[in-house]
Amino acid sequence: MSELMTLTLADKLYRTKYEPDESHPHIKVNDAACEKCSDKPCLFFCPAEVYKRDANNAQHVAVSHENCLECGTCRYGCPHAAIDWQNPNGAMGVKYRFG
Ligand code: SF4
Ligand code: SF4
Repeated sequence: MSELMTLTLADKLYRTKYEPDESHPHIKVNDAACEKCSDKPCLFFCPAEVYKRDANNAQHVAVSHENCLECGTCRYGCPHAAIDWQNPNGAMGVKYRFG
């Protein structure tokens, strides 16, 4: 079995480095749309588990934008177009440690 197959998600994410832009989160969600979204596919399609069910309101999702790998999936994966995803400001966001 290859090394990559035995790594946990946390191990894999450690291979990336982030410069999160705390003052300007590059992901925003429309809570009103999320309240009507029963399947919440964002909880499953994001490879970095950026979207989690909000502990204070199960109808909303909590967004850990600082973990975003900038893969672009959520621009297309949300069935209600409730995710406003912008590129992080220059020099911010994900940086890959190994190339
Ligand atoms: S898939 Fe879109 S609408 Fe549904 S919970 Fe996630 S962000 Fe909200
Ligand atoms: S761009 Fe990719 S990694 Fe970032 S939040 Fe969307 S699905 Fe997750």
